[in-house]
Amino acid sequence: MSEEKTQKTQTMQFEAEVSQLLNIVINSLYTDNEIFVRELISNASDALEKARHFQLTNKDSMVDSDLPLEIKIRVDEDAKTFEIADTGIGMTRDEAVRNLGTIAHSGSKEFLSSLKENGSDIKDLIGQFGVGFYSAFMVGKKVTVHSRAVAKDAAPVVWSSAGTGNFDIRETEDLPRGTTITVDLKDDETRYAKADEIKELIKKFSNFVAYPIFVNDEQVNTVQPLWTKNPSEISEDELKEFYRFIGNAFDEPMYHYQFNADAPLSIRSILFVPGQNMELMGMNRLDPGVSLYCRRVLIQSEVEELLPDYFRFVKGVVDSEDLPLNISRETMQDSALVAKLRRVLSKRLIKFLAEQASEDAEKYDEFFTNFGMFIKEGVATDFDHREELAKLLRYESNKTGAGKTVGLPEYIERMPEGQKAIYYISGPSREVIEAGPYLEMLEEHGFEVVYCYEGVDDFVFTNLREFDGKPLISADQADLKLEGDVEKDDESAEDSEEKPEESADDREAGDLASWIKNQLGEDVEEVTVSKRLVKSPAALINSDEFMTTGMKRVMQSINKGGMPMGKLTLEINPKHGILQRMNTLRTKDPDSDLAKQAAHLLLSNAQIAAGMLVDPKTMMEQSQKILEAALGEE
Ligand code: ADP
Ligand code: MG
Repeated sequence: MSEEKTQKTQTMQFEAEVSQLLNIVINSLYTDNEIFVRELISNASDALEKARHFQLTNKDSMVDSDLPLEIKIRVDEDAKTFEIADTGIGMTRDEAVRNLGTIAHSGSKEFLSSLKENGSDIKDLIGQFGVGFYSAFMVGKKVTVHSRAVAKDAAPVVWSSAGTGNFDIRETEDLPRGTTITVDLKDDETRYAKADEIKELIKKFSNFVAYPIFVNDEQVNTVQPLWTKNPSEISEDELKEFYRFIGNAFDEPMYHYQFNADAPLSIRSILFVPGQNMELMGMNRLDPGVSLYCRRVLIQSEVEELLPDYFRFVKGVVDSEDLPLNISRETMQDSALVAKLRRVLSKRLIKFLAEQASEDAEKYDEFFTNFGMFIKEGVATDFDHREELAKLLRYESNKTGAGKTVGLPEYIERMPEGQKAIYYISGPSREVIEAGPYLEMLEEHGFEVVYCYEGVDDFVFTNLREFDGKPLISADQADLKLEGDVEKDDESAEDSEEKPEESADDREAGDLASWIKNQLGEDVEEVTVSKRLVKSPAALINSDEFMTTGMKRVMQSINKGGMPMGKLTLEINPKHGILQRMNTLRTKDPDSDLAKQAAHLLLSNAQIAAGMLVDPKTMMEQSQKILEAALGEE
């Protein structure tokens, strides 16, 4: 067939799979068949995008290089036709045969394979994958394609088909660059020959197509992609619509940030924080949501390299004309320009969030409740921006009300004189933390204590180690008394050398501690007399350098039960009534069962206060024995 170059019409068979697909499409009575408008417009827009590319790189070998890049739709109610013309890349004869007669393209391929996999509902599948060009046959009894490819030496072609088994193709003369698709509408689909109907559909589906779309010579769509507009010219509604369009989203964005720069890089961008965190809602890990353009030509969608991983919840568009158009997925990784872009964008985005926090703290709290997990991930993983990201953290504390928060800079601002560290307590809730023994030690000094409710917080603070030069210290740490209480401590350290005499009370308390240690055996590393407990009988203190209590808690929940690993010290408060009575009992009878049970229960309670798991069976037995003893024997 290829040897004689004639203008005679050739009839060719569709690939078997295309016939099968067309058969389904034509007979499906798919009610949402209006999507054919979107499919044809997006093909036209793809073709224009390619032409634009071509123009930037090979202007001299381009046919009709001064034709504007645009889409023209004509509808004719009398003739019952829908026609769409673009000045895009066009198709050669071979391309038309291949692109319109085989099933090489992605959408339809997926459509067919899932149809084979499981007899799914055809309607669902069409909606899900789209059937691209072939959707024209849902509404047309005949489809004709006139096309002229971009290269100067390619002959124009005419392709036509009724969708039943075969198509006709012939070469022709004198067409302008691009493609015109004419759909002869089926008798019951003539609404698509109405201009108003089509304009509505374009508003619905194709408003952000980057090229002008005309319907019977009237321009319909928003011409400029939003990011190229001046921020002051963009309305809230346009932003929302744009967000939904580029983000494939249904919610409203929580924040939007339009960032433009000319140096050191040219950047036009609009970034969005979504209204909802889909990852928190039990969805899979999010894919990055920012697409990269160069002068409105899409380079790549959902680019990983553009922002750090923890910003994967951000959606939007970044356009930089400094980037080479033909940058590939591979070169993206080691492109110095992309790395530069990433640095600028991360820094700006962090700064933007900090500004939002100071402008509207309540709204920012809402943001942090939803997206705080990503900020924490950033603090733990992004060394370069750690300090700036740490400023974005928000926590409740003993000085905020429930549901109110404090950030670390504000914490430092209101620290009392003499406080040298930032203190935090981990626990499942405000109530549990405030009922526990740790807070009282710090409240005595008037210190603020940050409440950490999530396992990851401990990890974040351990990684951060300090903020603004102040160490971050967990309230259950063994050397806690050295911090902030420096004077007293220094004295006692010096004094202890010179003062060998211990008071009788001290000695008694020390004896009680070692008696308790004997009862508890290996369950604790040490039992010591506390200088800091006020109201509580005892507290578990972490004497481990390597593992915080929070980390132990996580380990414990992974190992399900068992005693906590690593070193733990039980600090007792000998002035507390429970300890005093325990002491009386054990001095009278060192083998007192009641005193022994009380010691075990004391530890169990301290473990619970530390947020650790306690074997419920053991604990129930302990309380039963105590109850029996307390109620007395018959
Ligand atoms: P997809 O757009 O997913 O590739 P389609 O079925 O929509 O699948 O289109 C099939 C192919 O036909 C396209 O990939 C493209 O090569 C070609 N094509 C369709 N419409 C046009 C057009 N207006 N201009 C140039 N080529 C087109
Ligand atoms: Mg398509």
